[in-house]
Amino acid sequence: MPDYIVKATAGNGQIRVFAATTRGIAETARTIHQTSPVVTQALGRLLTAGSLMGSMMKNDDELITLKVAGDGPMSGLLVTADAKGNVKGYPYVHDLGDTMASPMPVSEAIGGGALNILKDIGLREPYVGYSPLISGELAEDLTYYYAQSEQIPTSVSLGVLLNDDGSVRQAGGFIIQLMPNTDEEVIDALEEALADTPSLTKLLDEGKTLEAIMEDLFKNLNLKISSTEITRFICDCSRQRITKALVSIGKEDLVDMISDQEDIEINCDFCREKYVFSPADLQSILNRIEENEG
Ligand SMILES: [Zn+2]
Repeated sequence: MPDYIVKATAGNGQIRVFAATTRGIAETARTIHQTSPVVTQALGRLLTAGSLMGSMMKNDDELITLKVAGDGPMSGLLVTADAKGNVKGYPYVHDLGDTMASPMPVSEAIGGGALNILKDIGLREPYVGYSPLISGELAEDLTYYYAQSEQIPTSVSLGVLLNDDGSVRQAGGFIIQLMPNTDEEVIDALEEALADTPSLTKLLDEGKTLEAIMEDLFKNLNLKISSTEITRFICDCSRQRITKALVSIGKEDLVDMISDQEDIEINCDFCREKYVFSPADLQSILNRIEENEG
């Protein structure tokens, strides 16, 4: 079954709920980036967050980028998502030498640092939100980000469960937000429900559907599912886009590269797709820049 996002409200519209199953996304990322278990978990969690936060955006042409920079051995992670369920991402370091037998916590791999959120909503300057990492486990860090940077009481849960061979067994998450002036009893009921609920990946692993898990969680809070959407790991890179990037590095660097008389190879950070440019290709890019300069 493909990964999907469920959007819902509860507590008579006072609670917004976004939930996703992301096993395919997390496993695709693991296969592409050949990640060790702790990196698989960290990247899977951030991709889940990206998928959810993308789906929370209002317009189809908006993009969101989540950037985690830490002083741990992984250095960081970057995830970009759109509002249509498409998400992609990469770790700065893909293998930390950890294994299923000798695991490393995500917080140790990331270390201390910061979370940056960029929202490209079609304005000239993107919206930039920032908060320090308070745990390095990512869900808590995003909860803190929402409280601090957007002043929205939010509960974020992100999980990636691995098989013994390091492949992804289950992955998913939810983001639950309270509208302003939510009734005290709704908040209490939600807190109680969240405290009583086992982890999402554990419930998924028991064979429960996302919808059934949500019905259970909000059984006293009048859950109303509003939509279900497919989400997937997909990269939209192309030779044309990479060419654009080469144009932007400038004439001098291009001249240097051409004088080396060797093919250059550019790998897409997100999907590892390889693009090769011969000196002749580079020359024609240079010619085009010079023509445009007239
Ligand atoms: Zn790509």
